[in-house]
Amino acid sequence: MKRILQGLVLLSVFCLAFNSSVLAAGNTKPGGPSTNGNDNISSIMTYEEMIEKLSGLEKRSKGKIEVSTLDEYGKSEQGRSIYVAKAGHGETKVWVQAQIHGDEKLTTEAVMQLLKTLGTSGNPDVKTLFDELTLYVIPMYNPDGSIMNNRETQLMDENGDPVSDSAFVDLNRDWALDGFEANESRVVYEYWANVKPDFAVDLHHQGFKTVYGTNESTSFSLGISLAPDGPTLPSLENGYYNKVTKQMQAYVYDAMTKYGYTHIDQYQVGGEDAKYYIDIRGGVVSAMMLGLNYNNLNPDGHSNPAIFFETKGNTREGNLGQKSNGYLTKQNYLALKELLMGIATGEVHNVNPDHWNDIPAYPAEGYLTDYAGILPIN
Ligand SMILES: [Zn+2]
Repeated sequence: MKRILQGLVLLSVFCLAFNSSVLAAGNTKPGGPSTNGNDNISSIMTYEEMIEKLSGLEKRSKGKIEVSTLDEYGKSEQGRSIYVAKAGHGETKVWVQAQIHGDEKLTTEAVMQLLKTLGTSGNPDVKTLFDELTLYVIPMYNPDGSIMNNRETQLMDENGDPVSDSAFVDLNRDWALDGFEANESRVVYEYWANVKPDFAVDLHHQGFKTVYGTNESTSFSLGISLAPDGPTLPSLENGYYNKVTKQMQAYVYDAMTKYGYTHIDQYQVGGEDAKYYIDIRGGVVSAMMLGLNYNNLNPDGHSNPAIFFETKGNTREGNLGQKSNGYLTKQNYLALKELLMGIATGEVHNVNPDHWNDIPAYPAEGYLTDYAGILPIN
């Protein structure tokens, strides 16, 4: 039984953590407007619309936003360009990536809102961000998946035909020591190894869950794919990543609480009977923290800390509704902006890392890993 449970949990890790039909059936108060009802993908930005908007924004920003593709490194499996927007001239480099899973679409909307603010607003905060940071923003990491409305990308052969009906790759498991299955992974990895960011943030959606001790639906979870205080993170960079990932999460939690967002918790996976933190070394931002050196492209072993945001709902399961999209996008956008301000001003480093424990979480049964099954909490 335990073995079966582990298999089930492993399958559902990251952004698909919960069986929505089970949890949604309960008497759950929504965190923000309901996501039940019609899934209106037609109102959500497509790949083509993103390109058009990026181009318009670059023009309107009068040089403040620079848009380019990663074509010099390669293209997606189906031959699409991966876009990057660069902003700011500060010393600290921050990497922002959205929609590595092609059915987690509001992440792209949030990032585009951020770019719009950066490109067109005269707010003093924006000046601070430009002076202190240089941002490398990938609004849609997985264009093929987005167009297919699918979490994964599909491997294609040299003729542009699918390798097989089942050759799908989760790009967030594809930064591995022995190389990459999908073009997207190698392309973005090579770019990352050139940029050498100081921080990263990765935007996702997850299934439905409730905030511990309440019947309120979680609208947003804060997490990272190598668990704070877990089996891996404390040993990296003399404990700095363990500390700063907690500080970043606690900083965002406080900032969002001030805006009145109260349905935020820690990212955990599992069913109603048991919850786990994750320690997944093959995840992209995990590999960033571990300093993946593939093909000697990162000979100095550059690494950087990262966190992720997990917004509720996704478009493949059809549980994002038009009513909730604006709320969830704004939540992501504000959280992103606040995190960047915290990094730019250095305030992130003033947070007591133990404050991370104040973000609501379930008592965890263990760490769910991709290398040793479930490990106990010490
Ligand atoms: Zn995801």
